[in-house]
Amino acid sequence: MIQEANPKSRKHLTKSKLMVSAIQKPLPPGSTIGILGGGQLGRMLSLAASRLGFQCHIYDPEWAGPAAKVSRFESNTSYENIEAVLSFAQACDVVTYEFENVPSLTAKTAANARSLHPNANVLNIAQDRFSEKTFIRDKAKVPVAAFEPVNSVHDLKRATKKLGLPAVLKTRRFGYDGKGQSIIKSENDIPVAWDVMKGAPAILEAFIPFKREVSVIAARSFTGETAAYPLIENVHQNHILHKSLAPAENDDGRAQGLAVQIMSALDYVGVMATEFFELEDGTLLVNEIAPRVHNSGHWTQDAGCIDQFELHIRAICGWPLGDTSPKSKMEMTNLIGEDISHWESLAQEPKTFLHLYGKRDIKPGRKMGHVNRIIG
Ligand code: AMP
Repeated sequence: MIQEANPKSRKHLTKSKLMVSAIQKPLPPGSTIGILGGGQLGRMLSLAASRLGFQCHIYDPEWAGPAAKVSRFESNTSYENIEAVLSFAQACDVVTYEFENVPSLTAKTAANARSLHPNANVLNIAQDRFSEKTFIRDKAKVPVAAFEPVNSVHDLKRATKKLGLPAVLKTRRFGYDGKGQSIIKSENDIPVAWDVMKGAPAILEAFIPFKREVSVIAARSFTGETAAYPLIENVHQNHILHKSLAPAENDDGRAQGLAVQIMSALDYVGVMATEFFELEDGTLLVNEIAPRVHNSGHWTQDAGCIDQFELHIRAICGWPLGDTSPKSKMEMTNLIGEDISHWESLAQEPKTFLHLYGKRDIKPGRKMGHVNRIIG
């Protein structure tokens, strides 16, 4: 069902349907940006888009989620409702997504009607850890941790012999925030680790004794222009991002170069996050890419430059990418679950910017908001 905040908007929907699907020149303010997914990333994309005079149409099976609450249009139906996906795409001037598990038929349907950025092939690759790591290593020529595909306990035993122990077993699909993962320290752990996969195809990765985890947020436009923020250092707690610090120490620009190399190989348009393990000797290995705006880039909202959300909107609409150099050092801290109950004291802290996502229910492990603090 398409909900319209303003019935007069129907006129705009009809006009959009007549537009050609591929963007030839920058989309003017007033155009409609379609976003598949309606969580906090969609919300912050929509807020950034509205600053530039765009309006957003959110496609989200849930009614009135974080993104829809701040957007002009929403469609509430399943991603498998292909007719609805088609009319959603036809009502927009460009379509993007805020999560990487958009079903491939949904993405293809949207892409057939309108420009979809990043392209549907990026999604195909990023939805499967095996194809993602194979692509990054073999096509983009960027180093990753050694890995092996695993489809049975027999494969797992063979892979542990090849890669050595400890090693990390991960599901190929639908893993995030450490879900669907287990560390194998000795051969005795193999049966339990395989049970965790519940028969799903998996990969085994060599365990990387990293010095720190860093990430890069970079963008590429459809003219091939690129822009990147300084290096970000990330600290995880219980497999969920806890803090990001930027600019990180010892940023020699290598990580940004590798991220751009991957984006070019993917013919990428939009913002992409690349997460790296940095070893003691400075070697960088890609852990994973996220074909979207990313939690480790939230600090950009208050650093005095164009933030990652606006950067993505600019890239997918064919605008100049703009200034990504921060004017201050920032620390972003996620507000997980009950952390949000401290909103009143956080709102009083100096040099602190509070971002709350408008989620109805507080649940343990749920990202409810974040704070950006100017430091130094
Ligand atoms: P992922 O879901 O792949 O991003 O993994 C979640 C977290 O688990 C990472 O941020 C790391 O802290 C840790 N991790 C994942 N893979 C490895 C690895 N191969 N070696 C060491 N730690 C890892």
